[in-house]
Amino acid sequence: MSDETGCEILAKAEFCNGGGSVKDRAALFLIQDAIRKGQLRPGGTVVEGTAGNTGIGLAHMCLSMGFKCMIFMPNNQSKEKIEMLETLGAKVKTVPVVPWSDPNNYNHLARQFAETTENAVWTNQFDNTANRQAHIETTGPEIWEQTGGKVDVVTFGTGTGGTLSGVGIFLKEKNPAIKVILADPQGSVLYNYIKQGKLERTEGSSITEGIGQGRVTRNLEGAPIDDALLIPDTDAVNMTFRLLHEEGFFVGASTGLNVAAAVQVAKQIGPGHTIVTCLCDTGHKYYNKLFSKKEIEQRGLLDCIPPAYRVSLHN
Ligand code: PMP
Repeated sequence: MSDETGCEILAKAEFCNGGGSVKDRAALFLIQDAIRKGQLRPGGTVVEGTAGNTGIGLAHMCLSMGFKCMIFMPNNQSKEKIEMLETLGAKVKTVPVVPWSDPNNYNHLARQFAETTENAVWTNQFDNTANRQAHIETTGPEIWEQTGGKVDVVTFGTGTGGTLSGVGIFLKEKNPAIKVILADPQGSVLYNYIKQGKLERTEGSSITEGIGQGRVTRNLEGAPIDDALLIPDTDAVNMTFRLLHEEGFFVGASTGLNVAAAVQVAKQIGPGHTIVTCLCDTGHKYYNKLFSKKEIEQRGLLDCIPPAYRVSLHN
């Protein structure tokens, strides 16, 4: 990707974390926060509403720390994430997809479960800023050190907002000239929010998981965001398959979206710059969705995958 743009496009390999995603960082800080506040005591239960990756991070840590883990998930997420959560000893409840304003939203169900269970805590990844603190204290400083401070732009898709916000806060403190760009999938409100201050969803829905949002979470509040890009699934999926076939990275669609955004930024600002993003998780979790020919065809996304790369689709 760097060759075609003349920019250096760097990505943190977050899929290398123990639980396999960028969300391990938030999970550790959320658990430590609950312990520090006395909300989680030995033998207690960690409860969270999650698209899956935060849950996997939490479950992984609960297993080794002696806590129980209860996960509420929307029922449109990949089944591989549910299988992984169960392997890690978590109890998983999948619930219908309804907006935040509905009391049956997976997050409210998680909160209610914690409130009615002895020695349980709802870690509240969307609005507990221990999440973005993880990125202020770890991801941001790592990007700064690993690039020797040579960063012009960072761009990330946003779910809770923890990564974008935390990295943005840290890096802007180091160098206010660094630009922070939010990359949004279809069907999320954040693109319109950044561009025009309106909480209005963009058209369509997205095959990406874990990113896109219907509101401004507390983790995103006050984040130093300079601009937003709307990345359609055609670009995100195309890049996901390019990353596999041209760079050897078997990643999920939020990573495809991140790198597509980074390439778009590079083309806009011209050669000689450094753009940093992240490889959020691996493709294994999406075998039955992103790598399913049937699913890709149903979503009208086949044409965006170069013919030679379609060998990676299964029936
Ligand atoms: N990519 C994937 C695959 C995720 O699961 C998430 C988190 N839901 C993100 C990106 C976005 O991370 P954040 O919550 O820090 O905005």
